[in-house]
Amino acid sequence: MEIVFLGTGGGRINLIKQIRGTGGFRIDSSSANIHVDPGPGALLSSLAEREDPLGLDAVIVTHNHVDHFSDAMVMIEAMTNYGLKKRGIVIGSKAAMEGRDRSVHGYHQSKVDFAYAAVPGEKKTFSTDKGSFEIEIIAMKHEEETAFGFKISMDGKVVGHITDTEPAEHLGKAFSGCDALVVNCMKPETDKYHGHLTTGDVIAVLKEARPKTCIITHMGLKMMKAGPAKEAERIEKESGVKVIAAKDGMRFKV
Ligand SMILES: [Zn+2]
Ligand SMILES: [Zn+2]
Repeated sequence: MEIVFLGTGGGRINLIKQIRGTGGFRIDSSSANIHVDPGPGALLSSLAEREDPLGLDAVIVTHNHVDHFSDAMVMIEAMTNYGLKKRGIVIGSKAAMEGRDRSVHGYHQSKVDFAYAAVPGEKKTFSTDKGSFEIEIIAMKHEEETAFGFKISMDGKVVGHITDTEPAEHLGKAFSGCDALVVNCMKPETDKYHGHLTTGDVIAVLKEARPKTCIITHMGLKMMKAGPAKEAERIEKESGVKVIAAKDGMRFKV
């Protein structure tokens, strides 16, 4: 199993300036290829990294913010063989799937085999052409109130993802048992804008969750300035968990 980072930038300024990409990441395994949060540039960075969108089995949209959903529908068109074959799975937050401003349109939801509006606390198993995976939906605390994180069990490994969220007490325990945990760590220090995890917040989560490896991503400008590798080192030192700062195009073998 491999995690491929197609965009590791976060925050409002980076979204427009594209200092780092915003294409999300892919989990590629023998049972399924899953694209998580295909934001702006997801299609182009997939092609650049030779991550064939036609080979997708599932698309996940963790919440209804544009940096997480903008390319979702083109990825669904790819997953469904140019929109010609009903296949694949789309898992989105309730707001992304059912809200008035839903980002995954009804037309595209009708193109897939399974369209699931994620409910925190639920565990679901999905079959693909090649196997299956189980996903456990975990609540986030974010401006988009239906945002969710998850743990995916597939081919004997567990990959977790903490998307945009404020610190919340349940995170450490909920994300225990991961082989790899991908965490959106937007900034090094707390500032006046809430809604995202800082380096210190990630340390607190990891002390409890204790994944085999943590990979930080979705970095804002302050994080880039502070030096993601340096921040990762600090998190590793203080949590005792192996931590890597993702880069655009990075591949991590689980
Ligand atoms: Zn975001
Ligand atoms: Zn967000």
